[in-house]
Amino acid sequence: MTVYSAISSLIKYAHENELITLEDEVFTINRICNVLKIDTYVPEQSKDASLEEILKTLLDYAVEKEIIEDSIAYRDLFDTRIMDCLLPRPSEVINKFNADYKISPETATSNYYKFSRASDYIRTYRIVKDKKWIVSSDYGDIDITINLSKPEKDPKAIAAAKNAPKSDIKYPACLLCKENEGYAGRMDHPARNNHRIIPINLRNEKFFLQYSPYVYYNEHCIVLSSEHKPMVIDRKCFEKLLDFVEIFPHYFVGSNADLPIVGGSILAHEHFQGGCYEFAMAKAPIETFYVFEGYEDVTAGIVKWPMSVIRLSGKDKTKIAELVEKILNSWRFYTDESAYIYAETDGEKHNTITPIARMRDGNFELDLVLRNNITTKEYPDGKYHAHPEYHHLKKENIGLIEVMGLAVLPSRLLAEMGTLKNAILSNTDISSIPETAKHETWANMLKEKYCFTAENIDKIIEDEIGIVFVKILENCGVYERNEEGKNAFLRFCKSV
Ligand SMILES: [Zn+2]
Repeated sequence: MTVYSAISSLIKYAHENELITLEDEVFTINRICNVLKIDTYVPEQSKDASLEEILKTLLDYAVEKEIIEDSIAYRDLFDTRIMDCLLPRPSEVINKFNADYKISPETATSNYYKFSRASDYIRTYRIVKDKKWIVSSDYGDIDITINLSKPEKDPKAIAAAKNAPKSDIKYPACLLCKENEGYAGRMDHPARNNHRIIPINLRNEKFFLQYSPYVYYNEHCIVLSSEHKPMVIDRKCFEKLLDFVEIFPHYFVGSNADLPIVGGSILAHEHFQGGCYEFAMAKAPIETFYVFEGYEDVTAGIVKWPMSVIRLSGKDKTKIAELVEKILNSWRFYTDESAYIYAETDGEKHNTITPIARMRDGNFELDLVLRNNITTKEYPDGKYHAHPEYHHLKKENIGLIEVMGLAVLPSRLLAEMGTLKNAILSNTDISSIPETAKHETWANMLKEKYCFTAENIDKIIEDEIGIVFVKILENCGVYERNEEGKNAFLRFCKSV
């Protein structure tokens, strides 16, 4: 494909994805030519090529003409600039979203999601590389994903970022700030020229809706505060979540907890995550109903889930918010030594909640996952965190997404599991291979449990990873899944 043919193919792509109309065509071609430093455009036939192929041709051209250096970080910054040539301004995207919302909330989100993919803000051709599977468990179908679509570390980018002049002001302050919209990026910050965000109001505060560029599940959205301010779990947070599901009743939304170890990766910027997907946790039933005094009209109970979850549901969101505030305030200061729950040690607070909201049959439903981030001599990474025997598979925080029943596993695992399978099948000493040594104890246990063949090994390893993930979730539950744990859980409910 020549550069001219790639440009006409890109124009064809823009038409097919309703990014431009006929009136925009010449204007768009000239914008693309400007980025590519072409001053004479020669029309050529478009090709039936994928977006990835078209962009590759344009990127190769830019490298050949020495417009950019040849490495992934430079390429990602540059193709984002090219894609921006096809896109409307934020106000046009917002107007379309609002017009679609008048038809239905589903129309609005569905078209905005399509747009976020067509703009290549979500790099669909990378997302398809993610490995996904489902494992059935006592708690329902658990989703597992090995994320392979996050850009690899580029040594050239790391070196360039190191040598770049340092500024006292960090702009944008973080990856979630609204200032990312249209930002050209740098070696240590992704380009967001093709990013458009939608303003929404939650509890009279300004927020923005966007999708996650990594799409861990269908229509994985992020709701971010217009201000760069820390995550806080309080009554206002619950009210914002309930407002969100009222505006988008087909989406769930949740917040990471506000403490390290049990929180997500970005605690410095208030944000929520939601989407159009039903996780195993949402399908899990209440196994023990409980009536909170004075809140008889709110259905409540303990959910059948490896972590410790209270579910509330009712028609009146103010009433629910009021009860949640009571539960949160009780939990923040709750200590039960017999269950090894300490609200505070050495002045450091440990108790918090990971909340998830959704609408179900016209009722507001709120799941409150009780969290505690205490560390002990035996568990220096956290007592209610993945225990060390499982760190070979996952040692990262169990945040909102995992809590709901989707394991997001590190990309290193794919290669490691490939090597491990070969070692098992060829009876090679697992401890002698650096990549698999850490999986030895687990693999030996599996070797005793199964008779491995080339046909069954993939499925067994996938299932067993799922089993470990459920055990990790049980580790994170503050109450054990037995009679004693349940009694301790009910003791807390009574204390509310
Ligand atoms: Zn921020």
